[in-house]
Amino acid sequence: MRTVRCDLRFLDELIDGLSLIYSEHQRTELRIRLLQLVLAHELGHIFYHDVSGAYHGDQDGFSVIRYASYKVELRADAYAIRLIDSYAQNRELIYGDIVELASNSVRRSLCPQTFPAPCACAGYSDATLCSRVPLGPGLPISPDDRVPVKLVGTHPDYVVRFSRMLFLSKDPVARIYRNQAREVLRRVVVVNEGGQSESVDALLNTSQASPDVH
Ligand SMILES: [Zn+2]
Repeated sequence: MRTVRCDLRFLDELIDGLSLIYSEHQRTELRIRLLQLVLAHELGHIFYHDVSGAYHGDQDGFSVIRYASYKVELRADAYAIRLIDSYAQNRELIYGDIVELASNSVRRSLCPQTFPAPCACAGYSDATLCSRVPLGPGLPISPDDRVPVKLVGTHPDYVVRFSRMLFLSKDPVARIYRNQAREVLRRVVVVNEGGQSESVDALLNTSQASPDVH
């Protein structure tokens, strides 16, 4: 017998941390949909007989390729997406949520000091817009930009997780964003133990047509 324990404050931290609602009336329904997403991920851990994730605890960077427990988390995310693709009755809403989660994660990563407002990047004429955050739907990202993420704690950064969920989904709603999600994933960099930026492309297999699906 396995037990899934979920601290419901996590849902509100996600909602408020990524600025997902503009009215309190939206909170209850969004909590329920995010809980579906969390439970789908946890079912993935049960399916693969994963042991509980251990907290990494180190605030310094590390090589993501060598950090095996992230592979376990990414595998649970891939399972969650297959589950939602196949069984969720409110898929369109859930994928809409994942697009918001991913795009707001990218925006927060690019403008951490001012999020949810974009930062006024140097060299851009409009002070209310960040040149690093192109206008447009989904997950637009400038061709030469990089998305810096910190990979600390038990689970990979939200930028990585939610973009990858969009990339992996076979649902028509999510597939609209597949190429954008892949571009974001290809631009994710972490700082490794040596202090150098490191691409996570090898971990995420974004060059494969159908990664991580067994
Ligand atoms: Zn997990």
